[in-house]
Amino acid sequence: MKIDKEDIISYYNKLDRSLFMEENKMYAHVDSPFPIGYGQTISQSSLVLYMTINLDIDSEHKVLEIGTGSGYQSAFLAKFSKELYTVEIIEPLYLKAKKRLSAMGFDNIEYKLGNGSFGWIEKSPFDRIIVTAAAGNIPEMLIEQLAPLGKMIIPVGEIWQRLVFVTKDIDGRISYQNDISVRFVKLV
Ligand code: SAH
Repeated sequence: MKIDKEDIISYYNKLDRSLFMEENKMYAHVDSPFPIGYGQTISQSSLVLYMTINLDIDSEHKVLEIGTGSGYQSAFLAKFSKELYTVEIIEPLYLKAKKRLSAMGFDNIEYKLGNGSFGWIEKSPFDRIIVTAAAGNIPEMLIEQLAPLGKMIIPVGEIWQRLVFVTKDIDGRISYQNDISVRFVKLV
């Protein structure tokens, strides 16, 4: 079933972002990224909302997320899809997010420690892919792991990036659409 935008917005208003932060908890309501250690940040909240809405998730979808980070974006994806597969390259962040999201009751998430540029081949194809760190160019393996009629959102560029929507049609043809300008930490 297609997800109603209003449901995502009401979850956004309800979800306590401070649960995903350790320092700066008192700033959780401020719409800005904040450090979560290891040179990484929890994404700006309005951008998490924007990306979740524009990913066009369905309750039957299998979703791949690259860059678990704090798990804040993961919560939205797991809430509104069937299964979430999330990959994080920094071990302490991977461990903390796993513990945090499990404690919150999410039971439809699989976690992986590794380089997300390679995707998660054993679990592919994915209906939706979201990358929450900036890529110099779009990893070919992620495009390959996108299902027909799939959609991917990825920030592409150097210091500032362009959010790029990648879609695959029923015959496997790829198209790219440039969207808003954003600023994410770099994909390692
Ligand atoms: N949506 C997350 C964003 C975290 S920042 C949040 O709101 O918390 C981006 C994350 O991507 C960081 O945790 C970083 O460690 C991770 N990352 C960077 N390069 C990666 C890679 N190649 N594979 C997997 N994760 C990566």
